[in-house]
Amino acid sequence: MLELLMTMPSVTNNPDMWNAVLARDASRDGSFVFAVRSTGIYCRPSCPARRPRREQVEFFPLPEAAEQEGFRACKRCKPRGAKSNDPRSDLVRRICHAIDDHDEEPRTLQRLSAEIGVSAHHLQRTFKQVMGITPRQYAESQRLKKFKANVKGGASVTDAMYSAGYGSSRGLYEKSSAQLGMTPATYGRGGKGMRIVYTLADSALGRLLVAATERGVCAVALGDSDSELTANLFAEYPQASIDSRDTRISPSLNLWLSEVLESLSGNPKRIDLPLDIQATAFQWRVWEELRRIPFGATRSYQEIAQAIGKPKAVRAVARACASNHAALVIPCHRVIREDKSLGGYRWGLERKRKLLEKERG
Ligand SMILES: [Zn+2]
Repeated sequence: MLELLMTMPSVTNNPDMWNAVLARDASRDGSFVFAVRSTGIYCRPSCPARRPRREQVEFFPLPEAAEQEGFRACKRCKPRGAKSNDPRSDLVRRICHAIDDHDEEPRTLQRLSAEIGVSAHHLQRTFKQVMGITPRQYAESQRLKKFKANVKGGASVTDAMYSAGYGSSRGLYEKSSAQLGMTPATYGRGGKGMRIVYTLADSALGRLLVAATERGVCAVALGDSDSELTANLFAEYPQASIDSRDTRISPSLNLWLSEVLESLSGNPKRIDLPLDIQATAFQWRVWEELRRIPFGATRSYQEIAQAIGKPKAVRAVARACASNHAALVIPCHRVIREDKSLGGYRWGLERKRKLLEKERG
């Protein structure tokens, strides 16, 4: 369920690139771009604009890779127009453009290969090496991006869907529950139209709330009182219709509740429940990484940042952990500070300490 398609490698910690940026070295234009997190803009190395602080900067091999991560091209230096001096980059850019031009009807690898004039194998391999994802994943993530932009821009879900090139709502639903983490009909509206049912139970760590939609679990929370837990649920989904009894969802909800309870006793060691949670691509990446931490082990925020290819994003990783909606299912309690102190826990530090003690056995 927590399938993650977008993993774009940004080239980090490269003093050579940073020096080229500081020197506004035009000879490096076309060999990489640098993006500034605080502005969301990316530039060619020679851009005349003022230099950002180093920690705000990320490097990408291509303009398309930076855009894939949500950065926009600088209007001043027009990085998309820089001529590349690397045949591999040229090839990958041509593939990106061929995909972008035909997003209404995704190209098969064979068609792309015929269009570009290189073997399917070479095309796929080069693309993956440079972009970190396959051409198909690129095409899907471009479509999804377009769809999200349309929905946020106020288009109806159906219109947004068709203009993003989804032939049928089915295709979109299949993608979106994994990638958006929320169904299209409810995305972008604070949970409006979402039907949530929840249940409460006693657990070794206090009261436990599990809430779900028809598609999966949307909240798992630990607390001292039922009123605190339900109030938080209503605050998280202010527009949703929330009920503690809904016969259509109840059977799965009870099953999911029992799985969470069983996992608290250490058996099974991994809970694999369908999730229906709204999240950004970055949050999904962090959460997916958290799900890889084995039972009984811990990782530092730094290690998670490194594992997702964003070694500088330690604080963003900590924020993604803090914004986790599904306690235990997404084991954010297994992330601690580098100095082995506990860091934070949304459901109380004492609970985090107990959980870790228990898991270490
Ligand atoms: Zn610029």
